[in-house]
Amino acid sequence: MRQLQIRLILRWAGILFFVGFAFVGAGCSTGTILASHEPMHPNDRPVTLKAVTTGNVDRIEFRVQRFALEFDGLTWAETALTPVLYIWACDPPGSVKSLTCSHELAFSGDGQIVEFHARAVYPGGGHADEVYRFASGDFPIEGMPVPVRMKRRPENGIDIVFVPHTNLVPADDPDALTFRTHLDDIVDGTLFEYEVIRNNRALYNFWYSPIAVDFDAEDCNSLDDPLGIELESIADISMYVHYESKRNCALGAKLTTELWYDKSVIHELGHALAGLRDEYSVSTSTYGPRNHMPNTFGSKAECEQEAPLLGLSPARCQLSTPVFNFWRIDPTGADGCMMGPSQHLSWSDFGPACTRRFNWRYSQCLQGDCIASPDDTDGGAEMPKEENEPRL
Ligand SMILES: [Zn+2]
Repeated sequence: MRQLQIRLILRWAGILFFVGFAFVGAGCSTGTILASHEPMHPNDRPVTLKAVTTGNVDRIEFRVQRFALEFDGLTWAETALTPVLYIWACDPPGSVKSLTCSHELAFSGDGQIVEFHARAVYPGGGHADEVYRFASGDFPIEGMPVPVRMKRRPENGIDIVFVPHTNLVPADDPDALTFRTHLDDIVDGTLFEYEVIRNNRALYNFWYSPIAVDFDAEDCNSLDDPLGIELESIADISMYVHYESKRNCALGAKLTTELWYDKSVIHELGHALAGLRDEYSVSTSTYGPRNHMPNTFGSKAECEQEAPLLGLSPARCQLSTPVFNFWRIDPTGADGCMMGPSQHLSWSDFGPACTRRFNWRYSQCLQGDCIASPDDTDGGAEMPKEENEPRL
């Protein structure tokens, strides 16, 4: 059964993405466009398509194509329900310095996939495009995560699956409508607020589990997969989302986080996806000093050797005490670093050492290894094996 399920999922994924993206941008562009939609799984409700671009821009165009999915218990089939439809344009007089466009659209019918294509057109005819797919209507695969923003085939993308805690899915809301309205808060409102993710969003796929699970946010060993093998087959990162204020954890490819707190979402993703270490030294951290970690160093000499490779002065190397003695180089204090003492400051972000590690993760994905694998040894000297311990 396990093999059959995996085969079905892969077959489905292949069919789904075989159709490909007919409107990948061509020609010279003079800017970028960020497209989004909400609610991310509209089900039978209207969906608002959105896009924003900056630069000297003429207009934004929206196109969609709808596909039907059929499942007879053995095979998936995908049929185009519509041709590519030009549905909307935001076209102010002349050209403008920035443009935001939105349009509400209603879909009906279950088991559909919508391909959304947003295009910014610049003076002279250059354009920038963003294309992705999302599920519409009841998604027909029981136990499968629901795709809400798909850029790539799952095996070629970093697949993040959101798993809601039961405290986000009250008994009178068995279809998780409330949770679904928050998915864009996590993706667009949190993850895409950070450049290291937003600028590489073409590598990410996002899904959610339609089944909630009661988990202990402080104990990553307690995280059960509500979907069984299907979630494991898809997820590179399983992000267990809750609505309490807790000390969160990351263990391997699983993490817990508050829905409403970006600093938890981003910090724990730094652990789970990029294998980053905490840059603070407190007794409640499970981190000990490590040599040659992506963002911490075992000695001053090692840190100073890395500094020029990160474009930083060796003078920035700083000893972290008192519980663990290790060296770090990413900005501290007012500059902020997401993995260190400034995590909870509003402006905290990843420093150069952390960003370098994300970029390494992305380059691995582009070479075919998109699995969040902080414990593997593929990084060579940059990333030795570390034990699979909970990361707080
Ligand atoms: Zn941490």
